[in-house]
Amino acid sequence: MAVNFVPYADVDFSRIDAVIVGSGFAGSVVARELAERGGMRVHIIEKRSHVGGNMYDCVDDAGILVHAYGPHIFHTNSQQAYDYLARFTNWRTYQHEVLANWHGTYIPVPFNKNSMEIVFGPEKALRLIDKLVQTFGDERKVTITELRAQEDPELQEVAEFVYRNVFLYYTQKQWGLTPEEVDPSVTARVPVFISRDNRYFQDAYQGMPGEGYTALFMNMLDHPLISVSLNTEAESVMGLEFESDAEDAALSAITLKDLPFEGPIVYTGPLDELFLGRFGRLPYRSLDFVYETYDEEMKFPVGTVNYTVSEDYTRITEFKHLTGQVAPNTTIMKEYSRAYENPREQIPYYAIINPENNAHYQRYRALTESLPNFYPLGRLAEYRYYNMDAIVVLALQLAEQLLAR
Ligand SMILES: Cc1cc2nc3c(=O)[nH]c(=O)nc-3n(C[C@H](O)[C@H](O)[C@H](O)COP(=O)(O)OP(=O)(O)OC[C@H]3O[C@@H](n4cnc5c(N)ncnc54)[C@H](O)[C@@H]3O)c2cc1C
Repeated sequence: MAVNFVPYADVDFSRIDAVIVGSGFAGSVVARELAERGGMRVHIIEKRSHVGGNMYDCVDDAGILVHAYGPHIFHTNSQQAYDYLARFTNWRTYQHEVLANWHGTYIPVPFNKNSMEIVFGPEKALRLIDKLVQTFGDERKVTITELRAQEDPELQEVAEFVYRNVFLYYTQKQWGLTPEEVDPSVTARVPVFISRDNRYFQDAYQGMPGEGYTALFMNMLDHPLISVSLNTEAESVMGLEFESDAEDAALSAITLKDLPFEGPIVYTGPLDELFLGRFGRLPYRSLDFVYETYDEEMKFPVGTVNYTVSEDYTRITEFKHLTGQVAPNTTIMKEYSRAYENPREQIPYYAIINPENNAHYQRYRALTESLPNFYPLGRLAEYRYYNMDAIVVLALQLAEQLLAR
């Protein structure tokens, strides 16, 4: 068996029970569930030339498996999400570690006891660790706001160090901000980890798909009742009918090939794209990725290095750490954060979440609320940041809801 790819022109929607826009985890999990458990004929419309959404990976010219849309590491406390995906992949055990390049010296991130020894020297670090453990307890994550609130000047110094050397410049690059514009509520959450644990995540389940994410998606979508049209933009093929001509008039139907489609439509793309940006585009940050291959086995000691005090890229990922691939050469990826200015050429990666943008999003969302068979789902359609595991769980919940009807 293989995934049933069908040119859009050949799809007969009178023989389709559910339509899904997008083949990331949101779309693919719902598709699989409706087909497998509901016996429904599901058709996926995907604008890219491949399935898998932002998790898509592929082998580059140097033979190295790389991630095309940013490094993706699976980590979760949800046994449901982990076990569900295990139906379509074996898991390679992988615990992600991140180092900050601090003026040429590597320090573990989140900033922890090991980082303190590197930065402050063993003697002072010992004293600081002792004070931290006395004040907050061992194996705890505390925020720099909590540290700043301490009377002890040495604990305030730790907070100041982390703020200036691990957080500030990185965050400015990431969001394109001046230091003054960096949101104090975000700063407040920057953690210091009173631990020797260098892992970036402490979740119960962590790993990478054994043969990569694309192979996982190909397995998930390999079902006789699922078909997929690639290179097809929803907004180009879906006809929208509204209750009136008013700008804010609600949707009354979505047509496909000129006929209203009455089965469930699960939409996982950006809502502003569907409505051709009629209220203006929703703000996002985009990313550029620059890949470099080296004729050496490994370039970096861990999977990701953050550049927290220098360089104009935010971080470098070396994929072989993540994938476990054995090869004499290696590919790394530099990540540059960019303003999102051109939806034709750029990809919306991070929603810029604030009250104004949420209200902007809600205006689009309101257009869809009266259409009973339209279900926005996922990081784009909901204008939110979600990790992969959260999306898998939400997709399973939506499928459950649709199957119960
Ligand atoms: C740089 C980066 C790194 C990340 N790293 C991690 C990580 O390490 N761990 C983790 O758990 N999460 C990570 N995430 C989050 C993860 O990417 C999301 O949880 C996941 O992509 C959500 O899946 P989705 O299906 O909602 O969206 P997507 O994966 O974006 O899938 C949406 C799909 O819809 C398609 N589409 C969009 N618009 C249209 C349209 N108009 N017509 C047709 N098709 C359309 C897209 O082409 C895409 O295939 C990361 C995110 C980013 C940005």
